[in-house]
Amino acid sequence: MIEGVLLKGYGGFYYVYAEDRVWECSLRGRFRIKDQDFLPGDRVRILPESNTKARIEGAEPRLNFLSRPSIANVDQALLVFAMTSPKPDLNLLDRLLIQVTYSGIEPIIVFTKLDNYNAETLSPDSKPQPFVSDIYRRIGYTVFEVSNKTGTGIAELRNRLEEKISVLAGPSGVGKSSLFNALSEGKQLKTGEISQKSQRGRHTTRHVELMVCAGGLVADTPGFSSLFLPKMKREDLAGYFPEFEEYRHKCRFSSCLHDKEPDCSIKAAQENGEISRTRYEHYRDFLQEVIAAERRY
Ligand code: GDP
Repeated sequence: MIEGVLLKGYGGFYYVYAEDRVWECSLRGRFRIKDQDFLPGDRVRILPESNTKARIEGAEPRLNFLSRPSIANVDQALLVFAMTSPKPDLNLLDRLLIQVTYSGIEPIIVFTKLDNYNAETLSPDSKPQPFVSDIYRRIGYTVFEVSNKTGTGIAELRNRLEEKISVLAGPSGVGKSSLFNALSEGKQLKTGEISQKSQRGRHTTRHVELMVCAGGLVADTPGFSSLFLPKMKREDLAGYFPEFEEYRHKCRFSSCLHDKEPDCSIKAAQENGEISRTRYEHYRDFLQEVIAAERRY
């Protein structure tokens, strides 16, 4: 018996990645009877029947699963934004950080187009400008700055993919497809299929598939494309802003929502420059959304 990960189900077969290759697998009868629904990312045990074919004999319980796209056991989400062209949408980044954390998945922030940014900001007549990466690093998030064009930073990020199941998220035009290609060094399986899909627009892809990439598995469809914040109570939102943690219990009111209340230590920390103003503004925007959503339920 060999342990592997399901890449995709297609035409009554399941494609499983195990021992550095892809096996075309059928299901044992008892699974078929139970009509067990396998998802890409499921960890399965297979029994080889030839060099390329095998039978799925069992599956491990799922640690987590995403519903759109449907994928199990996701370890991390690469939140991809360009440093420039387009300018990073930090409201969307902060929104994605909440969604990903809520799903129990580790976020990794990736800023692309470092080459463009350097070319624009380090020209002789303009002063180098600090980029937002440090704000996120200080909070404790993992942040990479890369160039898909020159390859800067790609090797370091590649190390983070090993043995992991990752999904990419982020707006279009930021370099997600280019990043996927740079990370897989052209060694991904079924290159043709990927590029065809990206031409058609990957949001139209119905079935998600995991691709072998940089010693790990990466979903071919962007995850977390919904803009809605997860359903939560208004008082839970602050918990998704890790930099609020050391201040939030020092407010005058224990029920403080860090909005318009007097003697709010979060507001004070923002005014002192200890908490980023943009992040605090996003918190307040999101709070209104969470309150409006609460009323609808
Ligand atoms: P996606 O929509 O997020 O998948 O973005 P693409 O990978 O299709 O990239 C959008 C555009 O940005 C393309 O013209 C890419 O060539 C360009 N691009 C992507 N990454 C980089 C990068 O790191 N540097 C530069 N200069 N251009 C990039």
